[in-house]
Amino acid sequence: MTTSNELSRCVAQFDPQALPVSAAQAIVRQWATPIVAAERVALSDALDRVLAEDIVSPIDVPAYDNSAMDGYAFDGAALAAAVQADGSVSLAVAGRALAGHPFTGNIDVAQCVRVMTGALMPAGCDTVVPQEQVQEVQAVEGPQADQAAGDGQSIRFAAAALRAGSNRRRAGEDLARGAPAVRAGRILRASDLGLLASLGIGEVAVRRRLRVAFFSTGDELRSIGQPLEPGCVYDSNRYTLLAMLRRLNFDAIDLGVVRDEPAALEKALLTAAASADVILTSGGVSVGDADLTKQLSRALGDVAFWSLAMRPGRPMAFGRVWSGGRAGVGDPALFFGLPGNPVAVMVTFYQIVRDALLIMAGATPQPAPVLHAISAVPIRKRPGRTEFQRGTAQRAADGRWHVAPTGSQGSGVLSSMSEANCFIVLAHDQPDVDAGDTVDIMLFDGLI
Ligand code: AMP
Ligand code: MG
Repeated sequence: MTTSNELSRCVAQFDPQALPVSAAQAIVRQWATPIVAAERVALSDALDRVLAEDIVSPIDVPAYDNSAMDGYAFDGAALAAAVQADGSVSLAVAGRALAGHPFTGNIDVAQCVRVMTGALMPAGCDTVVPQEQVQEVQAVEGPQADQAAGDGQSIRFAAAALRAGSNRRRAGEDLARGAPAVRAGRILRASDLGLLASLGIGEVAVRRRLRVAFFSTGDELRSIGQPLEPGCVYDSNRYTLLAMLRRLNFDAIDLGVVRDEPAALEKALLTAAASADVILTSGGVSVGDADLTKQLSRALGDVAFWSLAMRPGRPMAFGRVWSGGRAGVGDPALFFGLPGNPVAVMVTFYQIVRDALLIMAGATPQPAPVLHAISAVPIRKRPGRTEFQRGTAQRAADGRWHVAPTGSQGSGVLSSMSEANCFIVLAHDQPDVDAGDTVDIMLFDGLI
């Protein structure tokens, strides 16, 4: 198959026993083809979906010039024309405008209109003096100045504090009609939904959700609720995989635990290929007697086996599996055979798989933000592989981030991951780290 040839050609330039993380990321991205199918959903159901169309603003937002402050709107020409010897401007209050209740009259340069934030700028007005800067000079009669239109009241303020156009929001300053508002490929967040609502858009086209089938392999695995015989472990990878996939809003198809038996594995792989865009498995990709995934997925499609220059997460399989049982027959699915060790599963998912899945989902993946932190302790690091140690980072009183690895860094020690709030990323060529050295960290959580 051509695909197989291409896959092996992709890795040919690297040492197959140590494929750099950056090369694996590039190859995987190259094989990730976005799904095309889209559907229309209500805005209220669109959170975390991938926008399938460019949205162009059908209106100006805001739709009209309006006041940015509570105060008085007037013609900015008054700042030059009506200024007195002491530098102040006095204007007569001709009426008022509230948000949703415009002032409909006309005023001259010696007049102003009481306005509240968001009120339509009255005709002839382009400037607002905030009420804090104003002295109410006289109230001929009646109650407070802002209680009624006019009332013969006037205001005085220092001209120097303002310029023509101050405190006015222009029509279209948020978004002009015809301007791109949100681009296709955007994973819709709260601000995007608000923005689309501000344009009066109540429905959007989004890509159909990416379907990801996953299963665990291993005769030693027990499901929760089953007795744990000697030599057995509970299957935890399925839970981390389910959670990681759901967090990205993919359609996660759980195919359970599959025993290390050729027939069972073959059936699971074919079912997965028929029902999903992507197959994720854990376990059975290292050099061992029971490493059937390796043999089978090779038989069922085009699969390359990698030894990544990475820790944790060295062995990994990548390629395509066809539902017809042979390369080119039936429906293909992109296949990621992840290692079995629970931390390695999470690290390879985030560092190698995640962006490819986002691309397939139609999204434009953004690089994870990396911060510099000061290492509290020395860290041993072998050059020639990228290490993703688990760390706890915090911003100290000196305003800088400080980090320390969380306990044992074994690739099966899931508590190191659970306790951590970041990866300490030790680059391919980096040697040992001394206490006080700066390291890169990738925080697990962001604000939004
Ligand atoms: P393998 O890659 O299949 O040789 O597995 C490597 C290690 O990860 C072994 O200690 C397995 O018991 C463990 N392991 C594999 N799959 C799982 C799983 N689904 N949940 C927890 N541990 C696992
Ligand atoms: Mg196994």
